[in-house]
Amino acid sequence: MDNALLEPRKDPMGRAIADYHSTGKAAKLRVLSSMFYEDEIPVATLFRTMEEMPLLEQTMIQMARGRVLDVGAGSGCHSLELMKRGHEVVAIDISELSVQVMRERGVDARLTNFFDETFCEKFDTILMAMNGIGIVGKVERMPQFMLCVKRLLSPGGQLLLDSSDLRYIYEEEDGSFCVDLAAGYYGEVDYEMRYKGIKGASFDWLYIDFETLAYYATVAGLKCEKCAEGSHYDYVARISWHS
Ligand code: SAH
Repeated sequence: MDNALLEPRKDPMGRAIADYHSTGKAAKLRVLSSMFYEDEIPVATLFRTMEEMPLLEQTMIQMARGRVLDVGAGSGCHSLELMKRGHEVVAIDISELSVQVMRERGVDARLTNFFDETFCEKFDTILMAMNGIGIVGKVERMPQFMLCVKRLLSPGGQLLLDSSDLRYIYEEEDGSFCVDLAAGYYGEVDYEMRYKGIKGASFDWLYIDFETLAYYATVAGLKCEKCAEGSHYDYVARISWHS
């Protein structure tokens, strides 16, 4: 499970990225969830430039230093911007199709699952953009995630991530907050993607509020700081070693 990869026939997003890369256009990339109305990811946004990135992503790019690991890198949009700025970058993704596209775009991309324990190079910055920490899936997997972070961080290294506190979905008009505590952590979402005839498997995707993130970082002996806040319950955090 921890080194699972995505083969092309089960990879809607990878196929959309490959289509857009080779033809400059793509069909609708649909996102389904048992918790939300059906949505769509405009495939062009997966190829965004620095100017087109949300402010929080621009902040993370500016905070990057040294050798960077771009986790779940997709089309490689952040990797390419970081390379332009002189960083040595390694991109990892479980999507064969996306890794192929990144290689064609000149990125050092590896077909690697973040949780694969045999991947143990060191990085000064680990970047998880577009809620890349979503790959953790369920909050119970946070301790395992922190172990991976510690394995990959160089001394003095940092993990930069953006995520959102999904509490707004459960907030009442008076500001009170109503969740079913027996139902698990409220940031755990299930998604399924579809593109053309390709139907991906359903997967767990985690959105984590800053306090919960900081709790797991602290338990793992790491430091966790909030670096920026967006306009809608979103934020950038930096996790690093204690000096
Ligand atoms: N970071 C990119 C893409 C985000 S989509 C961007 O901001 O545009 C999330 C990506 O993570 C997908 O390409 C998916 O294939 C990849 N992914 C999912 N689980 C992963 C894992 N365990 N390890 C590495 N990559 C993973």
